[in-house]
Amino acid sequence: MLVFHPDYLKHLQSPWHVESPARLKAILTSMKARGYLDDALEPKAVRMEDLKRVHTPEFLEYLKEYGEGPLDPDTTMHPETWDIARLAVGGTVLAAEMAVKEKRGYIALVRPPGHHAGPDYPGGFCYLNNIAVAAHRLLDKLDRVAILDFDVHHGNGTNDIFYRSPRILYISTHQYHIFPGTGPAEAIGESDGVGFTVNVPFASGCGDSSFRMATREVIEPIVKQFAPQAILVSLGTDAHYMDPLASLTLSSPGYIEMMASALKLAKETCEGRLAITLEGGYNLEALAEVVTGTEALLRGDSPNVVFTEVRDPDCAGRRIVQRVKDIQRRHWKL
Ligand SMILES: [Zn+2]
Repeated sequence: MLVFHPDYLKHLQSPWHVESPARLKAILTSMKARGYLDDALEPKAVRMEDLKRVHTPEFLEYLKEYGEGPLDPDTTMHPETWDIARLAVGGTVLAAEMAVKEKRGYIALVRPPGHHAGPDYPGGFCYLNNIAVAAHRLLDKLDRVAILDFDVHHGNGTNDIFYRSPRILYISTHQYHIFPGTGPAEAIGESDGVGFTVNVPFASGCGDSSFRMATREVIEPIVKQFAPQAILVSLGTDAHYMDPLASLTLSSPGYIEMMASALKLAKETCEGRLAITLEGGYNLEALAEVVTGTEALLRGDSPNVVFTEVRDPDCAGRRIVQRVKDIQRRHWKL
């Protein structure tokens, strides 16, 4: 099931920016071809009180009053940005709440993305942290929520927001040493949150078999032991071999396999409560086929993908995953 608002298409960083409305248009076209848009839900903007659970009042005031101009070289504010960003948070909150209520998978097709936005900072095309606000909302009724972040970039904002929390398990697979530079395997949380942050910092070239090893030997055992009551996913398709921004090499079937594992974990641990929100992904065809393939997976249809080359047959990330296991073994049975 999908959550979408037409205003997400109105968000324009600048005419040549990679995080463009064309991304969502490509997804919508392929979703529409399969009839998946017919029953999409339309969200409302998130409430200010929900934003304040994650962001400081000073930061929210700063964004709201900013007007027009760059927040950083990649992230520009326009008069309409505040409203659309709040609508993106609202979409992710709605998907999460519906997933909990209906015990099934939902995808929020949102822009702008959110996982680089921290308690008091924007960045990397992000303004407000969509998934963090949704996770916080769920904590009203649930004790534990897991967030899986499969975007190629480390979700530094989400990482920072929940770094001291034992109620949110944050697991990120990402390419290390690219933007934003954070997310080493040693970053495992702080104080009560130690062990509840799991970073898998892949190197250039890692793809299907490396992600499969991380899924089987790190993500699945840790999530099962954590026993979340809902699972949220930050889905960026920029770890795809077609993506122009980074150099991991997941194929479309590799992505679908990651999402199938997330769905299986949700069914095993929390009655199928799975909510997915869109982060990055800049090759339009790969983006559209992975996200539409994920919706097909949720509906029990065939994913139908064409980018099937396996570029990492020999598990280039073996030593990295092993290192993550060695570090996390102090907190989890691995
Ligand atoms: Zn990204």
